[in-house]
Amino acid sequence: MSKPTIALVAHDHKKPDLLAWANANMQRLEQCRLVGTGTTGGLIAEQTGLTVQRFKSGPLGGDQQIGALIAEGELDALFFFWDPLNPAPHDPDVKALLRLCSVWNVPVACNRSTADLLITSPLFLSLDYQREVPNY
Ligand code: PGA
Repeated sequence: MSKPTIALVAHDHKKPDLLAWANANMQRLEQCRLVGTGTTGGLIAEQTGLTVQRFKSGPLGGDQQIGALIAEGELDALFFFWDPLNPAPHDPDVKALLRLCSVWNVPVACNRSTADLLITSPLFLSLDYQREVPNY
């Protein structure tokens, strides 16, 4: 089985949370192909040593690049720690990314507790679980 592709994105005030979570889940993350928005991906690669394919920074189109992966059926899960307390200039892109996860039934974790539950699920990385892809 090829490695699942997962995307890592965090808004600025949430980057420490995502970084701490990535450090705590290195072994599982090493079994995945990791992609991320520019700043988040760079930070995680630098601080953990994990290999992360970096797209553009979120406000410059990185969220939409991840959305394109979803639309192409190439993303298996999104870990997106968005900031509920500060406005983002690219709020439409944030909404669009979350929307595509719902459109294509892609698992998405928006906070650390959900991310913990998702990545430690016995179904994550398991051959026993086949995510249903809607046929529109
Ligand atoms: P960044 O983008 O990782 O480049 O900061 C995150 C986002 O705002 O979507």
